[in-house]
Order: sequence, then C-alpha cells, then structure tokens
Amino acid sequence: MTKSTYADFYRRSIEEPDAFWAEQAQLIDWQRPFDTVCDNSNPPFSRWFVGGTTNLCHNAVDRHVATRPDDNALICVSSETDEERVYSFRELHAEVQCMAAVLQSLGVQQGDRVLIYMPMIAQAAFAMLACARIGAVHSVVFGGFASGSLASRIDNAQPTVIVSADAGSRSGKVLPYKPLLDEAIRLAAHQPAAVLMVNRGLAEMGMQAGRDHSFEALRAIHIHTVVPCVWLDSTAISYTLYTSGTTGLPKGVQRDTGGYAVALAASMQHIFGVSPANAAGQTYFATSDIGWVVGHSYIVYGPLIAGMATIMYEGLPTRPDAGVWWTLVEKYQVSVMFSAPTAVRVLKKQDPKFLKAHDLSSLRALYLAGEPLDEPTASWISSALGKPIIDNYWQTETGWPILTIANGVEPKPSKFGSPGVPMYGYKVKLLDETTGQELAGANQKGVLVIDGPLPPGCMQTVWRDDARFAAAYWSSIPGQQVYNTFDWGIRDEDGYYYILGRTDDVINVAGHRLGTREIEESISGHSNVAEVAVVGVADSLKGQVAMAFVVAKDAAGLELPANALKLEGDIMKVVDTSLGAVARPSRVFFVNALPKTRSGKMLRRAIQAVCEQRDPGDLTTMEDPAALQQIKDLLKPV
Ligand code: AMP
Repeated sequence: MTKSTYADFYRRSIEEPDAFWAEQAQLIDWQRPFDTVCDNSNPPFSRWFVGGTTNLCHNAVDRHVATRPDDNALICVSSETDEERVYSFRELHAEVQCMAAVLQSLGVQQGDRVLIYMPMIAQAAFAMLACARIGAVHSVVFGGFASGSLASRIDNAQPTVIVSADAGSRSGKVLPYKPLLDEAIRLAAHQPAAVLMVNRGLAEMGMQAGRDHSFEALRAIHIHTVVPCVWLDSTAISYTLYTSGTTGLPKGVQRDTGGYAVALAASMQHIFGVSPANAAGQTYFATSDIGWVVGHSYIVYGPLIAGMATIMYEGLPTRPDAGVWWTLVEKYQVSVMFSAPTAVRVLKKQDPKFLKAHDLSSLRALYLAGEPLDEPTASWISSALGKPIIDNYWQTETGWPILTIANGVEPKPSKFGSPGVPMYGYKVKLLDETTGQELAGANQKGVLVIDGPLPPGCMQTVWRDDARFAAAYWSSIPGQQVYNTFDWGIRDEDGYYYILGRTDDVINVAGHRLGTREIEESISGHSNVAEVAVVGVADSLKGQVAMAFVVAKDAAGLELPANALKLEGDIMKVVDTSLGAVARPSRVFFVNALPKTRSGKMLRRAIQAVCEQRDPGDLTTMEDPAALQQIKDLLKPV
C-alpha cells in the first residue's frame, strides 16, 4: 500500500475498512487466516477477523525468540528495592511457559479467569502473557485498590486463581498486599480455588494451607516445562479490565484476541513509529501501571508485539532523584516514552539540572495521555526535553488512541491543548447534548461519539453484561446507535479536537479514572454519614481531586472543630480501606443539606462549578438555594 498523506490513509480506513484492516492484519502472525474482516451483523457487537486463529503471547514473545532470542525483551527496574533485571526474549519465553505451567498445575484451563493483583514486578507480566498463552482470561486489578474494590472485582470476574505478591513499595514504604487480598477474599462471595503468591521478601504473607501456594516453590518444579501456545479464535476473550462508570459497580471491559493484536501492532507502527524493520534494539518506556489500560497496551503487549524491549518500572519519578527516568532513557536507549501530564507536572517542580545531565539522544518523542494536557505543562516539557510531545486521547474501552497524530504515517504538527485528529478506523463526531444533532461546524462544544463498528482492539462488550454494554455506551443518544465516550469535545477549523472533560460522574485524579459514585458508596458506609456528594475539582498538580460534601447524622456534635476534623479523618480512612488511598477525597466538608433539584436529583455539576469558582449555571430547578450557598461559604478563602 502506498502511504501518501494521513488524510488518504484515514479516508481509506473509513471507506474501505475491510481492505484497510486486512492489510494491517499482516503485521501479526496468524495460525489460520481469517475469512471475514469484520462481522457487524449484530451491532453494537462487532467481531474482528472472524475465522482466524492466533495467540497474543506467540506474537509478543515466541515469534521474536525465533529470530533474535538474545535481544532485550522485558526490563524490570525498581527504584524502590534497587533491583534491575533484564530478560531477553529467550528468557521471557522460558519464564512465561513456567508461569503457564504453574497456573495449569493450579487448575487453570482455557477460558478460566486469573485475577492479577500485583505490584510492578516481572511476574505480573509473566502472568499476563502466560494467561494469553493458554487462553485463560486475565483480569488485572490495580495494586493501589484496597479490599472493597478488590472484592467486587473478584465477585464479578470469578477467578479460578488469584496471582499476587507479598508487597509493593512506594516512596520507600512497604505496602503489604496479602492482608488486603485476604480481606477481599473474605468479603467476596466467590472463592478462588487457589492463590499464587510471589515472595519478594518485603512482608509476611500468612499463607493459608490448601489455598495459598508459593510461586517460588512451583517455579522450581516447572522452570523447564514446555507449554505451547493455544491457537485461539480471533474473537476469543483475552482479558477483562475494570473501569469506573456512572454507577458504583465497575464495568469489566472485555477485549478480544486477534483484533487487539492487530490494533496494537498497527498503532506501534503508525502512531509510535516502530515498524518490524526498525524494532530491533529499540526500547519503549511507559511509566504507567499494569493495572491500567496503558499498562496492558503499552507496557506489556504493544511493544513486545512490535518486537522491541519494554521497561516495567516500580517507583516514583523523583526517587532517588528527579533524574531516575532519564537515567533509564540513557541506559536502555529508550526511543519512545509514554507518561501522563501529572507526572510531568511533578517533574516540573524539580531542578531542571536532572534533565540536562543525561544523554537523551535516543528518545524520539514523549507521548502523554490519561488526562487533559495543559499548555504550560506541554510547553515546559517540550523545551526541557527538546523533543516532540505527543498528546493522545483514548479510554480503557478503546485500548488504543482515538485522537492523536499518526507521525508514522505522515508527520504533522501538534497543537498544544489538542490531542490531535481522529485515528484511522475511528468515525468521530460531535453531537449537540440536547438535540443529538451532529455539530458539523468548527468550534462548537458537543459530546464526542464514534459511529460503529469501532475499529479492532476496542471493547467487545461488558464482561457478562451485554445489556449494560448496549445500554451504557450505545443508547445514550436518543434515536441513534453511536458509541458515547462521555467526553466533551470541540473541533477547530483544521480538524483538530480538544477534550473538555467528562459528561458523566467519572473523575480523573492524577490520570487515574475513578467513579464518584463508588467513592460516595464507600463514604456512605460510615455510620455517621446520612448523605454524601463527591465531585471532581480542578487541581494544578493532579488535574482533578475528589472533594466530598457530607450531611452527618449527628450534625450537632460537629460544631466542635475537633469533632469535625476527627470525622473527616475517619471518613478518609473508610475510603482508604475500602477503595484505596488513590480514591481518598482531598477534603471532606460537612453541610446541612446537599443541593438538589425539586425532583431530588443531586446537582453535582453546580457543586463542582462552585468549587472551581465558576458560574453554576441555571439553578431555577434547585430545591434549596441555601445548600449551594453554604458550600460557597465553606470554600471561601479564609
Ligand atoms: P481511562 O479509561 O482510565 O484511560 O480514562 C479515559 C478518560 O480519561 C477519557 O474518557 C478522558 O476523559 C480522559 N483522557 C484520557 N486521555 C486524555 C487526553 N489525552 N486528553 C484529555 N482527556 C483524556
């Protein structure tokens, strides 16, 4: 195919999708070729590369072992424990087969779920790849989540085995995982057949006889076991990954096998500029966590499918000093780096000498995603690094960028504040919120939606809940079956899009997506809470922080500031232990009533506007204006 301009490339993906994606599918190995590129006969459930069989682990590991077994594959660095270990493709192949054999010895079969609750250590990647190898469905739960979040995910995923470790570490502080896991299993209705524990020697594990197994002991038995890849239907489920929505119950985003492999392989080439011809010797460094979608797509699968090395990093960007990431870029000749604006804002507060002290000549570009990239942050890092900064907008649901610049197809200038233009395969539109009419003109704010079928790699459905998938994502605009991103957007005269925040109750704290409803449910668990509203409020470092407004059952006692302070601390502890510190509100304010409409709907957008010193808009339907006024008064600077 001739690659002329990106406009041609994009047009072809929309007008001739079968031919376009059949070509992209050549970037991966198939055991049996597919006979249908896209079956969209039952929308919104589209099926990609039907009839084909393949395997994600084969594409990420085995096929490279055949050609360059000794090249770096997985580079694990912990600035917390000062450990560093490089696995070649050959070594990764052996470890993944071993982990697959260990999982099989614990009863895992094709289609079974394996829940992975782990810090950023090599065994987490081994476990993901081992599941892919044997056709088990992995469900990684972010290690920062606590027992309550973990329990609801265990109940939804119903795993045969849970893989975990004794502890993670953050800023030098050991964070034991096993007590949280034990408590989550105690809370859950579903009981896993086995728990596999990796021992890092950081914390006590309190093994439960009959249920808990030592990874090290089983590894010693299985380290030389050969476990072939199982050839899976392209449409077989590869994984589920929970994400927050508008209800308290997280959604299991379910992904396929072949479509995901093709989407990642194509994105590595067209977006990140890594082709099969130039992958050897290149290193990718995504600073995210395997608990998030970026970790799945661009720490584990994407770079390995492309045949480049990938860095898995445990630690902060500032420890032992703010040069730690740049030391890795220099040492491992990182060519592509992927991070989040929050991390850059943290680095911006540090001495710039740490950036200057390293040879960053290998680095081609820094990609940022997960939250809006503000202009000052983008300008600072762009001039500090002297490299292109490429924003990219996407979601757990899509698995790869919706909006960015495909420099691998045709270099195009970025515009600060805009992630870029629609990626090939995505039919992006803006709709008027109330009428559902398409906003064809420039500079009009609307809801960003995508016409079906979504391109390969996007979610197949909500795990075990097709009805929720159809209702939550595809039926929100009356009379139209379009995929709703639940983000506001604007398109300028040049076709560049700008993302203006969520249309729903999802918030984004330091790039972590959280549901305010989940936080509200957790706070409601405190015995002195009658009612609560949680909103996301703009924050200069974290993008947004959660703030809680609580009506206490015993309001009289709170007149004493010490009592109010204690209750605020207790409520924060409740969130810490049920959801994890990541979801802890930055402040809890006590109010007499919450602002609601006359029909009882909570006016979260009005509360948020007041918190951000913005106009709360039309309040004619508000039941009790004093409630909003009290929030205004509480937030007045003293
Ligand atoms: P997640 O599913 O955790 O990746 O979060 C997805 C949400 O994060 C999106 O719906 C957006 O609200 C936000 N988001 C992700 N990337 C960007 C970006 N580059 N610019 C603006 N918002 C973003």
